[in-house]
Amino acid sequence: MKIVIAGAGIGGLTAALCLARDGHQITLLERKPAFVELGAGVQCGANAMRVLLSLGLGSALSKHAVAPSEVLFRHGVSGETLYSTKLGASYQVRYGAPYYHFHRAHLQQVLVDAVQQESGIEIHMNTQVDAFKDSESGVQIQTNARQFRADCLIGADGIRSTMRQQLIPECVPRNTGNVAWRGVIDVARLPADFMPHIATNFVGPGRHMVVYYLAAGKLLNFVGVVENRDCDTQDWVSAASWQTLKDDFAGWHPMVQTLIDCVDKDACYRWSLRDLPALSSWTQGRVALLGDAAHATLPFMASGAALAIEDARILQRALADDTDLPRALRRYQNTRKARAHAVQRDSARIGRLYHLSSAWLQKQAFRGLRMAGQRKERFLAEYDANHARLASNGD
Ligand SMILES: Cc1cc2nc3c(=O)[nH]c(=O)nc-3n(C[C@H](O)[C@H](O)[C@H](O)COP(=O)(O)OP(=O)(O)OC[C@H]3O[C@@H](n4cnc5c(N)ncnc54)[C@H](O)[C@@H]3O)c2cc1C
Repeated sequence: MKIVIAGAGIGGLTAALCLARDGHQITLLERKPAFVELGAGVQCGANAMRVLLSLGLGSALSKHAVAPSEVLFRHGVSGETLYSTKLGASYQVRYGAPYYHFHRAHLQQVLVDAVQQESGIEIHMNTQVDAFKDSESGVQIQTNARQFRADCLIGADGIRSTMRQQLIPECVPRNTGNVAWRGVIDVARLPADFMPHIATNFVGPGRHMVVYYLAAGKLLNFVGVVENRDCDTQDWVSAASWQTLKDDFAGWHPMVQTLIDCVDKDACYRWSLRDLPALSSWTQGRVALLGDAAHATLPFMASGAALAIEDARILQRALADDTDLPRALRRYQNTRKARAHAVQRDSARIGRLYHLSSAWLQKQAFRGLRMAGQRKERFLAEYDANHARLASNGD
């Protein structure tokens, strides 16, 4: 088939690769003029890595990755350890695939390199999908540059998806009342004994901060989430003063202070975090959404990109399994819905747990998490998009 994919983010690039490997002719339309990724990290568990490894990207990715040996949850003020999980080699043995941290630019570059080597994929940059028209004979796609025709159109155009606006106009991203500071720090600026190669999640009243290494250990990534309903919600991302970041984490653990002191004071940005309500449908005829466009989630389970990667493989398998295209797209959606909704729901719940106001309550809650945490880890990591059962029908 001729398949057009709107959006060359992690989801669109992975979908292009998966579908091209089945012999489809892919046209990837990206509104940006060039592949630029923000300076921030992304965590990929075994569920995402299984797909990326099966696409032959293992050695290219491992050059850039950090495999943390452990994740620690500590109280943001006292530093007391509340919960920990072993990752590293034992995680890989448990799930048959690694847990990796990447710089987004590296993950994107590995995907772009693979896409560019694939003869069945053409990429058009500077090309923004504005509208589409679906009919019996195919889909007409209107962009800022020209028209395209396709047998199938996939909207991988992110949380602010234009395609979703046309498909499901009543669905609008919700302001979650959280903002996220994110950035990377050259480890040369940090004390040598700052943190071993683990991930640390400092949690406390109304805020938390996730800290981990990337770029083969050369950079430290931080995401500092703060409940803040007053932040200008019109701006998805905005420059903000370093002093506000410092104030947001005033009184927190010395490691958090050291990290903030090393942040480039002229490059402080914060994101207003939005998600989508759980959609009952994200396909129509020959058109379907994928990744954040369909099920954007709060980032507290570090799983939005992983879901997009899983979507890509399931979409490929659903199209290979059914010659009736609209039904195949609905089977793709029906295979993915429960899992995507569970991640959306649990990410919001986890945010509430991280941000509990009483240290005592938080300690009790994390104690209770020991069993639930293992279940959640298995729920995320054991999912194998290469072999998971497809929904039996497209109804
Ligand atoms: C603070 C934070 C931390 C996170 N950490 C993690 C993590 O550790 N692990 C994880 O798995 N996920 C994480 N996520 C989530 C993850 O970033 C997203 O879920 C993921 O990037 C979604 O990928 P996507 O391809 O669906 O969309 P996007 O990455 O948004 O890509 C969409 C692409 O479409 C293009 N586009 C938009 N509109 C159009 C149009 N009309 N026409 C053509 N092109 C268009 C855009 O330019 C973009 O390139 C995090 C998110 C946040 C906010």
